[in-house]
Parts: sequence; C-alpha cells; structure tokens
Amino acid sequence: MHDRHAHDGQSSLSRRLGVIRFWVAAFMALLGAALATYSYLDHRQVATNAGERLAVLANVMASNIQSQLSMIDRQLTALRQLNGIQRQRDPAAEGLAVRDVMLQWCNSDAACMDLLIVDHHGVIAEWTGGDDPPLVADREYVTEHLQNPDSHVYLGIPQRSRARNGRWFFAMSVAERDADGKVVRVYVSIRDLLHSFDYADIVNRTPASSFAVVSNAGEVYVREPDRERYMGRVIPRVAAVLPAQEGEARTVRIHSRLDDRERLIVTQRLERYPLYVAATREIDHVMANWRHRSTVLALLWLLLAGIAAYVGTRLTEDVRLQDYLASIDGLTGILNRRALMTEARRQEERRRDAEGLGLMMIDVDHFKRINDRHGHIVGDRVLRQVATTLRMSGRGSDVLGRYGGEEFLLLLPGADEQRLATVGEKLRAAVEAIPAIEFPDRTGFPETLTISIGAAVLRPGQGNLDTAIAQADQALYQAKNAGRNRVVVAPASGAS
Ligand code: GH3
Ligand code: MG
Ligand code: MG
Repeated sequence: MHDRHAHDGQSSLSRRLGVIRFWVAAFMALLGAALATYSYLDHRQVATNAGERLAVLANVMASNIQSQLSMIDRQLTALRQLNGIQRQRDPAAEGLAVRDVMLQWCNSDAACMDLLIVDHHGVIAEWTGGDDPPLVADREYVTEHLQNPDSHVYLGIPQRSRARNGRWFFAMSVAERDADGKVVRVYVSIRDLLHSFDYADIVNRTPASSFAVVSNAGEVYVREPDRERYMGRVIPRVAAVLPAQEGEARTVRIHSRLDDRERLIVTQRLERYPLYVAATREIDHVMANWRHRSTVLALLWLLLAGIAAYVGTRLTEDVRLQDYLASIDGLTGILNRRALMTEARRQEERRRDAEGLGLMMIDVDHFKRINDRHGHIVGDRVLRQVATTLRMSGRGSDVLGRYGGEEFLLLLPGADEQRLATVGEKLRAAVEAIPAIEFPDRTGFPETLTISIGAAVLRPGQGNLDTAIAQADQALYQAKNAGRNRVVVAPASGAS
C-alpha cells in the first residue's frame, strides 16, 4: 500500500491554483504575442523611416548635382557666346581674351581640370593647358557631336586624362553649329573626379552609410567613402536597382556579396542627365536601436515568465505538500480518517458497475491493557509498528487508513470473501510475529500483540459503503467474541 491516493485527492485550493496557473500562462502567452507584434510593427516603422530619410538625402544630392551640371552647361554656352563676340570684334586676336576668361573660370573651380575649345577637325584650338595640347579627335565628347546631328549637350563617362597624368575625369561638351547644322566648334569642360560632387561630410556624419553617383551601366563617378578606390570602376549589379523614370526614386534591400552585409539602397535618377545617385545604409546599423529595444522586451518577458513559473511551481509544491500532510495521520503515517473515507467513497463510486470492493476492519486486541501497563508512549509505538506491518503486507492497489484510535480500515478493490480470508490471515500472522522481531531487547513485551479482523465485500447493487462497514464491524465483533487474534469474513449476502 502506498500514498498515491493522498495525491489524487486534490483539494479545492489545488484546483483553484490550477485555474490560476492556466490564466497566468495564457496571460504570458498573450503578452508574448503582443510584444512580438509590437516588435514586428516597430521593425517595419524603423525600416520605413530609414528608407524615407535615405530617400530625402538622395533627393537633395540628386538636385544638387543636377544644378552643378546645369551650371557647367551654362558656362560652356556662355563661353561659346563670348567666343562669338570676340571673333566678331577682332578676328585676328581670337582666343586671347577668351583664354584669359577660361583660365580664370577654371582656376577658381577646384573640380575644373581643363576647359577646351575644339574645332571641327577635332583639334584643340584653345585650352587652359600648356603649349602642346593633346589629341582629342577620337574622344567621345567630340565625336558624339560630329556623328550625331541632334546632339547638343554631351555628358561623358569616367575616363583617364591624357594631358594630366592619367587622372580620372568626366567631360561635358556643347556643340556650336552653323546654319546647316554642321559642327563648327565644340566647347568642353573636363571635370576632375577627385573634386566633383563632394558629399564626404554628409556620408561621414551618417554612420554605416555610402553615397555614389553612377551611370546607368554602373560606371562610378564618385563613391564615398573610399572615393579614390572606386573612381572609374564599374558596379555591374547596380543597373538592376536603378529607377526607370527620370527624377524617380527607388528603395531596395540588397545583400552584398563583397562584405556579406544587408544594405538599404535608395537610387534616384537625375532630372535631365542619365546619371543616378545611390545612397545606402547598412540594415544592421539602421536596426541597432530596434534590436536593443526588442532584446530588452524579450528579456523582460523571459524574466516575468521565469518569475511566474517559479512562483507557480513553488505554490503548487506547497499546496501539494499541504494536501498530502492534511491526508496523513500524524502518528502512523498512513491515511487519516478523512482521507481514508474520501478514498473509500471514490472506490465505492468506481465499483458501481464493476467487481466488488473488499473491506477489512482491523482492531488491536486488548490495546487498553498495553497502554495501561507500559504507558501511552509505548502504546503509540505499538500502533506505528502495527500500521507499518499492515502496510508492508498489502498490495499496491490496497488502501490502508487509520479509522479510529487503534482501528484500521483496509480497502481491497476486487477482493472476494476468499481473498479477504487469505489476506486477513496473512496480516494477522504478520502482526503476531512483531514482538519477536521488533522488541527483542524487551523480553516478553508486549506479552501478546495481536489483531482481530472483520471483513466484508461491497458488491455493486448490494448495499452501500456504510452497510458494508457495518457488516465488517459486525464480523469484527464476532472475531473478538470468539477469542480475538482471528479473522471473520461476513458471508456473501446472496448466500446468507
Ligand atoms: P479489545 O481487544 O476489545 O479491542 O480491547 P481494547 O483494549 O483494545 O479496546 P478499547 O476500545 O477498550 O481500548 C482502546 C484503547 O486505545 C483506548 C484508548 O486509550 C487507546 N487509544 C486510542 N488511541 C490511541 C492512541 O493514539 N495512542 C495510544 N497510546 N492509545 C490510544
Ligand atoms: Mg477498538
Ligand atoms: Mg482494541
């Protein structure tokens, strides 16, 4: 016999605790879901904001570059007009005054590498350089105008200079045509890439960002940071993320194969030139604050869940222990009367449409005499010993409890009269054998320690628990009268 049944008998406190635990768990799950949702929306918001800020930046840069290019365009037009006026006034002195102006303009502009006036053979007629001008007849900023009758303004891709130690430049040129549309001269501005479109400050002040000006084929004019490393290089994949329409912006996320980083990229096409501005930021960096927030929230949730789980476990343990202690008889350690009767009623319910329930009322013989002769301390000790002996001799499915002072009730599910007689006899013999083993030093004590047993079977549809207990009591009375230290089993009701 064991104490499993004590645990089965849940108190209402323990049931209420179960309900509270359920709701706390539900609340934590809900809170977790709410926090996850918040975090998800927060993530989207942060990404959107970063995209918008980047788009504003790209837009400002694009219009700034646009106006710089327009200014070069206007400067070349002004140069053409100036040259025309000069030639009308004094054809012989052509170039002299114009060259002074060209030199002045170019020297005051850090990004100006050279200004050229090229004739229709492709030969430099005037420029800001020294005595022997380079050959530029094959340069696109000349040939484009010669071959294409519609071309007015030409914007070139990054190239290396022949006159200036291979430095990187891009050219912008304007054609002067006669009445037939034939090219008379080409005015060219050679722009130094090292000093064009300088946004290093903005890029340096925006962490983990980059900025680039590229052609639609991905040829790099400027890229910050590392301007010098990227000048004239080609980023082939950039073409895939460029917007199709003039003035349009596009936002994409790209995973870089170079440094294995995710980047948010906004590309913006210039209004009037086939140039693109690309502003990027590393997603990791953009999301750093969001990550901190989410981590703190997750940790808080974990802490709360941990506390709830800990408190819940401790409370449950406490309540279980209380339940257990409340069901145990303090002296003998077996079920007390309340728990025993609860268990008996449950067995009675369970037996309704199954086999019978065997009951055994066990009473210590002449216990009063033991108390009287040896004192209550020894009496208690004897009671404990008897309880232990009864418990050790029973089956796992049997339930033993203390019914009253020195009376025990044993429930034997499924036992019939035959088995009650057998088990009863076994118990009786076991108790009779106690003194010799358990009290060897007290010779002759207790003079006699025996029990009497009255047993009965409660069968489905025949009486109830109370009548069965009364029957067992009756049988016990008979056992006492017949001289004690014996087992009497009430005959099956059908047979009597
Ligand atoms: P019988 O053989 O007829 O059962 O005689 P008995 O003396 O055992 O029966 P009785 O009912 O006259 O006496 C039971 C005694 O058990 C009376 C009571 O003082 C004693 N008793 C009841 N509970 C305890 C207990 O917890 N500890 C001790 N030491 N004695 C107890
Ligand atoms: Mg008694
Ligand atoms: Mg007794």
